[in-house]
Amino acid sequence: MSIAENLLQIRADLPEGVQLIAVSKTRSTDEIMQAYEAGQRDFGENKVQEMVAKYEKLPQDIRWHMIGHLQRNKVKYIAGFVYLIHGVDSLRLLEEINRRGQMENRMIDCLLQVHIAEETTKFGFAPEEIESLFRSSDINQLQHTRIRGLMGMATFTEDSGQIMREFGILKQLFDKEIWGKHQDAVLSMGMSGDYELAIQAGSTMVRIGSSIFGQRTYP
Ligand SMILES: *Cc1c(COP(=O)(O)O)cnc(C)c1O
Repeated sequence: MSIAENLLQIRADLPEGVQLIAVSKTRSTDEIMQAYEAGQRDFGENKVQEMVAKYEKLPQDIRWHMIGHLQRNKVKYIAGFVYLIHGVDSLRLLEEINRRGQMENRMIDCLLQVHIAEETTKFGFAPEEIESLFRSSDINQLQHTRIRGLMGMATFTEDSGQIMREFGILKQLFDKEIWGKHQDAVLSMGMSGDYELAIQAGSTMVRIGSSIFGQRTYP
C-alpha cells in the first residue's frame, strides 16, 4: 500500500478525539509530501537538525512535533516554530524552553515525558516526580511554556498485559494531574506496535511512523 493509503486507513480507524502524529524521522521530503497531500498536517521528528531542515523546505502549515530527546543547547533552533515538544524530561530543560519562548515572544506547548517502561534506557520523569513537580512553585512561574499533558513509551514487548499496565500508570497520572486543567489536554502514547492498546488505555495522541511510511532502515 502507498503512504497515502496507509495513512487514510489508520485515520479511518482512529476513534474520535485521538490525534495522529505522522512520525517522519528519516523520511524524505517527498515521502512527507505524500502524507501531506493526503491531508496530514502533524508530523513528528526526533532530531533537531533534521526537523529544522524539513521545516525550511516544507509547507508552512505543517505542525512540527519534537518527539525525541531534546538537549538544552538545541532548544534555540526550534523555539520559533515547534508546535509541541513531547519529551520534556527535566525542569532545567523546561526552563530553557521557557527562556527561548520568551525570546521568541511566544508560548511553547510541552508534554512531560514519564518513564513507564521497564527498560532503564528510556528518558523521563518518574511518576512520583511529576506529582511533586506540579506542586512546586518553579513550574507555575513559567510564562512562556504551557504543559498540555504527558507522554510515555511502553516497554518493547509482546506482552500486551505489561503494555496495558504501563499505559495505565500514565493514564492515571494524566487524569490526576492534567485532565480538567486544559480543554486541549494531551496524553501522547502509542506507536505503530502498540497504538491500539494505547487507545484502549486512554491515549489522545498517537505517534505512528512505520505503519504509515514502511519500515525504517535505521532508527
Ligand atoms: C520513532 C518514534 C515513534 C514511531 O515509531 P514507529 O514504531 O515507527 O511507529 C514514536 N515515538 C517516538 C518517541 C519515536 O522515537
